[in-house]
Amino acid sequence: MSFPRKKILGYSLFIAVFTITLLLLTSCLSAANNGTKGALPAASYTNAGQALIPTETEALSDMPEELPALKADKSEPEADPPVGNEPGAGPEQASNVGYTLFLPLAADTKPAMPTVTSDTYVPIVPPASKPDKSGKPSSKISIPVLNYHSVAIDPGNIVVIPPDKLDAQMAYLHDHGYTPLSLEAFIRLLEGDSSEKAPEKPVLLTFDDGYLDNYEQAMPILAKYGFRATLFVSPGMTEQDGYLTWEQIKKMQAGGWDIQPHGMSHPHLPKLSADEQAYEIVEAKKQIEERLGTKADVFCYPYGEHNKTTLKLLKHHGFRYAFTTEQGFATNEQSPYLLKRLFVNGEEDLNAFIAKLPKLK
Ligand SMILES: [Zn+2]
Repeated sequence: MSFPRKKILGYSLFIAVFTITLLLLTSCLSAANNGTKGALPAASYTNAGQALIPTETEALSDMPEELPALKADKSEPEADPPVGNEPGAGPEQASNVGYTLFLPLAADTKPAMPTVTSDTYVPIVPPASKPDKSGKPSSKISIPVLNYHSVAIDPGNIVVIPPDKLDAQMAYLHDHGYTPLSLEAFIRLLEGDSSEKAPEKPVLLTFDDGYLDNYEQAMPILAKYGFRATLFVSPGMTEQDGYLTWEQIKKMQAGGWDIQPHGMSHPHLPKLSADEQAYEIVEAKKQIEERLGTKADVFCYPYGEHNKTTLKLLKHHGFRYAFTTEQGFATNEQSPYLLKRLFVNGEEDLNAFIAKLPKLK
């Protein structure tokens, strides 16, 4: 009798030891597991750290958080076409913002553009810094995009630049080694494409609205220096008094100008329904593409105005980039649909123009 009892006791002990061992093993394993999980974020942060530039998808999914940009934009509306009708609060504000930057005159207390100082300009150098795994450049790329409208004599109207002033500005750019880019070259540079040699001082010249004087005045002046530009045109306004005809637009295109959409009728997009916005955006794109046989997938917001719907529509309809009237250099750190430009005030002198340009260190 005593022997079986001992046996049972032995078995019990064995089972107890076995169970404890099992328990210990299980808890060890789970601790190890947690440890691995804990380590994961660190690893992915490292990867994320390399890609400081948001991808397009990220930028778009972030859009609601990019409201500050929307807000800033609304307060800097573009000139109302036709330019002559409105000496306009809009451009006035835009110019004040410009002054805030470079001159101490700023009566306007709007926050100065944080990204535009001589310190933050990084001249484009053929990427010494290699693109990371995602193919994105790993350094900041910053390009001045000048924003013109009408080229004529109209004293007191800051969105109209006299031809001789435009000529003097182009001469300055030419004499100081600036290279006005085609829109595609601009995009390649912004995207860090190192397949072609980057010019030392790139600049993108843009003209909004499609005024007749862009053909009669701006194009010959730019041609003198071998310069090209990008025209943002509202197809619904073509063939009207003071505006370009399609024949003229075709000649500009043949002269090296890139033609891109600016809404069908130059509307205040945020005031429209989603369907109306879609029509303004898509129809303008379609008309340009059909008439000129080129891609028209870079948008420019009329009055610089947009809302979340506008941004979603641009993405949905295959637009690659969009320009605002927000003041600053265009950089690869901005959302592709919120690229900044530099408003050229037709009333200011050459020194004020020069002050807008990058200061090379
Ligand atoms: Zn416009």
